[in-house]
Parts: sequence; C-alpha cells; structure tokens
Amino acid sequence: MFTKLKQYIPEERIKINEPMSCHTTFKIGGPVEFMVFPQSILEIQQVLQLCRLEEYPVFVFGLGSNLLVSDRGFAGVAIKLGNHLKSCYIEGDEIFAEAGIRLSELSKKAAASGLSGLEFAEGIPGSLGGAVVMNAGAYGGEIKDVLIEILAMDSNGNLITYSASDLNLGYRSSILQNTDLIVLSALLKLKPDQPTKIQTRMKEFAKSRREKQPLEYPSAGSTFKRPEGFYVGPLVEKMGLKGFSIGGAQVSVKHAGFVVNTGNATASDVIGLIRHIQKKAREEHGVELETEIRIIGPID
Ligand SMILES: Cc1cc2nc3c(=O)[nH]c(=O)nc-3n(C[C@H](O)[C@H](O)[C@H](O)COP(=O)(O)OP(=O)(O)OC[C@H]3O[C@@H](n4cnc5c(N)ncnc54)[C@H](O)[C@@H]3O)c2cc1C
Repeated sequence: MFTKLKQYIPEERIKINEPMSCHTTFKIGGPVEFMVFPQSILEIQQVLQLCRLEEYPVFVFGLGSNLLVSDRGFAGVAIKLGNHLKSCYIEGDEIFAEAGIRLSELSKKAAASGLSGLEFAEGIPGSLGGAVVMNAGAYGGEIKDVLIEILAMDSNGNLITYSASDLNLGYRSSILQNTDLIVLSALLKLKPDQPTKIQTRMKEFAKSRREKQPLEYPSAGSTFKRPEGFYVGPLVEKMGLKGFSIGGAQVSVKHAGFVVNTGNATASDVIGLIRHIQKKAREEHGVELETEIRIIGPID
C-alpha cells in the first residue's frame, strides 16, 4: 500500500504506523496504519480512489481536538487535513477558506479585516472542516450563524456544493457526522465591525476560557453534550465525581464537564470514566449523557 500511496502523495507526507496520540489534543490514540497529509483536492481524490480499490477503510480528520481514538488505533488510511489545506481569501464581508485552516487563525484574520461573527471560534483548537462537521460553537455563537455553503467530496471523489441549510446544523451536530463526505472548504458571511471592538470581544472570551477550562491538561473539550434542563459540569459535581479518576483519565477539578488526561491516560481509561459518569447520571438523575467527543476505532 505504501508504494501505491507514494504514486499520489510525496513520501515525506505519508507516515506508517503513526501514533494518533501525536495528532489529538487528548494525546491519546494508538497507531494508524497509514497517515497522509494531502495538500490538494486532487491528492485527496487519488487517495480515496486508491483506498476504494484496495478496500482500505478511510478516516478523515482535522486537528484531532474532538477525538478519542482507540488504544489499538485504526487499521486503514487516516487523511489529516488540519493545518494542510489552509488557504483563505476575504472579499467584502465573505470569507472563503479551506477546511484545514485553524479556527484561531481564521478568526484572527476576520478580526483584522473588520469582520465580526467568528469571535466565538478563536479559542476552539480545531480546524474549519471539523468545526463545520461539529457545528462548533461557544459564547452564543456557532458555525451555523456564519456558514453559507461548503464544498465537499464524496467517497467516489465527486465534488458537491451544499448550502448550510442542507446540512441540518444543530447543537454540535450536522448530517455530515453520519456520512462519508469530506469537507474541503467553506464560504462564510460575516458582519462588518471595528477590528478593535472584535478583538476586545475575543480577548474577553479567551480570558473566560483560561479561567474556567482546564487548558493546562490535554483533553478533547467538553466530554458530553448539554442535556436538556441540565449543565454537565454542575451535574457531574453533584454526583461527587469532580476529581474522580480511572487510570490517567480524570474528571477535571477545574471544570467537571471536561475529562482530562493527567499524564498517561489510555482510551480505555477515558471510556471507563465516561461510562461510569453516564451510569451514575442515568441512575441518580434519569439523565442520558451523550458524548460530544467522537470515538474512533475499536473500544473495549
Ligand atoms: C480545550 C478545548 C476546548 C474546546 N472548546 C470547544 C468549544 O468551545 N466549542 C466547540 O464546539 N468545541 C470545542 N472543542 C472541541 C473541538 O475543538 C471542536 O469540535 C472542533 O471544531 C473540532 O475540529 P477538529 O478539526 O479538531 O476536528 P477533529 O477532532 O479532527 O474531527 C472531529 C470530527 O469531524 C470529522 N472531520 C474533521 N474534519 C473533517 C473534514 N474536513 N471533512 C469531514 N469530516 C471531518 C472527523 O472525522 C471527526 O468525526 C474544544 C476542544 C478542546 C480540546
């Protein structure tokens, strides 16, 4: 397979048995058989076609900031888009950007151009593609508010444009989570405002994050989606689980809505902890906690 991949992607952008722990903000995850870092739509198309021909499973990701990857890794080809496909053009109040651009970079560019609407995204450590798939949001804003359309690729390598309304964007959800479409780029519409005012809002959000979130530890952000009528942090705290740990996975002492990796957590530790929290929430409060984190690969 390596020899075949090399026909389409330069050798220095292919890794064999690459630990996913090096590509996730959780710093957890076993090896993927092959990881490729495409720099063009054509390269993605060619890799997809090859994988279909060779019957290799494909996994596409951005910056790995919402992932819990199995300790056994992933048998197949992982396509990493984060920080590779990252062009960005601004025209009037519209921004066209490729999926791999970091949200922090995108929101800084928007602010510098006097465009408001992406202030919420500055502290989210993901890529634009991942943010569209997750309909990422914070501080009263979400991708849905600014997205006009995306360009996506299906598993046959066809390019298709979808308008935002086609994507069924909801609270941390989109139809993209249940398809094998790859988000290649997005067109966003923002609102003109003074750069200093936008930057002030971004600084306030960043301060709030630093104060409330356990940014000093690896994590994948909020572990669970907010169930109706509850806030996850206070609920988990009420169940006496703040600081509770399994192996190296701990319910953050700073914010009980985050599971953090205190050093040597495995995916099994995190899953064990997630299941324990879910069980207690169900038994003690009748609440079903759904993970916001995406779980990849075989989990015991
Ligand atoms: C400290 C911290 C704080 C966070 N704060 C927030 C927050 O405030 N709000 C929030 O919403 N999230 C937050 N997150 C979670 C995460 O950053 C977001 O969900 C982010 O949008 C994920 O982007 P990513 O590129 O890292 O996606 P990944 O984690 O790489 O992937 C997430 C999912 O999207 C898919 N995917 C990624 N890129 C593509 C693509 N181009 N095409 C098709 N599928 C793709 C993957 O297969 C996976 O299913 C936080 C995470 C951390 C670690």
